[in-house]
Amino acid sequence: MNIPFVDLRTQYEALKSQIQQRIDNVLEHGQYIMGPEVAELESRLASYTGAKHCITVSSGTDALLISLMAMGVGRDDEVITTPFTFAATAEVIVLLGAKPVFVDIDPITCNIDAGKLELAITSSTKAIMPVSLYGQPSDMDEINAIAARHGSIPVIEDAAQSFGAEYKGRRSCNLSTVGCTSFFPSKPLGCYGDGGAIFTSDDSFAQACREIRVHGQSQRYWHTRVGLGGRMDTIQCAIVLAKLDRFEWEVAQRLEAGARYNRAMDELGVKRVQQSSDRTSVFAQYTIMVENRDQVQAALKLEGIPTAIHYPVPLNEQPAYRVFGSSLDTPVSSSVAKQVMSLPMSADVGPVFEHVVTGLRSALSNES
Ligand SMILES: *Cc1c(COP(=O)(O)O)cnc(C)c1O
Repeated sequence: MNIPFVDLRTQYEALKSQIQQRIDNVLEHGQYIMGPEVAELESRLASYTGAKHCITVSSGTDALLISLMAMGVGRDDEVITTPFTFAATAEVIVLLGAKPVFVDIDPITCNIDAGKLELAITSSTKAIMPVSLYGQPSDMDEINAIAARHGSIPVIEDAAQSFGAEYKGRRSCNLSTVGCTSFFPSKPLGCYGDGGAIFTSDDSFAQACREIRVHGQSQRYWHTRVGLGGRMDTIQCAIVLAKLDRFEWEVAQRLEAGARYNRAMDELGVKRVQQSSDRTSVFAQYTIMVENRDQVQAALKLEGIPTAIHYPVPLNEQPAYRVFGSSLDTPVSSSVAKQVMSLPMSADVGPVFEHVVTGLRSALSNES
């Protein structure tokens, strides 16, 4: 049996006619750029998260980039983030000429360690960018409080993996100054290409993002600022709209799968990244920690069970980013990166769940 790491096929089969209908509508009305589905999706997603504004953009990466541009982040500024994330988080900082300052992670959740944040703040700190890794927001109240104490530094949640998660009764993307998500196909809420969104309740910040998204125009051919071509296609917005019909059910399925995995790992005595099925995570990834990772991965592969490493090398140890080496060292990220391994996860993982756990049990027993 060969199972998918993320099962998008079952979702497609379930939504086929709605997706087809939505795409056909776009082809009929012909407004491929900024068509009516764009505003429809923005309004649905804003009310879903509770944020006042949603600005759809061309990708999760561009959501982060446009947010930093709207804040005026530039040369010699510093932005604090985690080294244990996808490259896009730090890339956008460097692209603007600013410096990423990497703060180590908490070994239990693998999110930025809020207790180490304050030490990294300087007079050049222009933003703090925590990542809601694996679908689980960091301790955002604590991060917001630290940011507020230091002259209201804006906090950007990189919520590329956490759309749908909740934190103290509020939804991810609406937990700080700005939230940025991604609709990359394998994220919890994905489209069939690239897409992303920025969420905020700040009117002038939202306006700046809307202008930057269309080459810095406040009106046609009137460029108030430097921007980029950062729109999300109407067809991709239409696809997300169709997928929204199933999304709450999918979140419930993910939480159930997460709970089953948690029980199975505890039973097997396997160390896991702490994520709870109380919706404080949407389990974008189900990630465990194993010592002899290469061997376990190879044994699972022989059983047709795919795994992935999120992420094998922390960003501050990567050739492109180690030049930004700070005085802060990050031993937790370094050690966790050698152990993490993500198991197949999606809303439709249920039918293959037993096979994965059985495979893991035998892979681990062959180890010892
Ligand atoms: C996927 C991801 C991004 C980038 O999103 P894209 O839509 O692929 O550009 C940024 N940050 C994190 C943490 C991600 O997982």
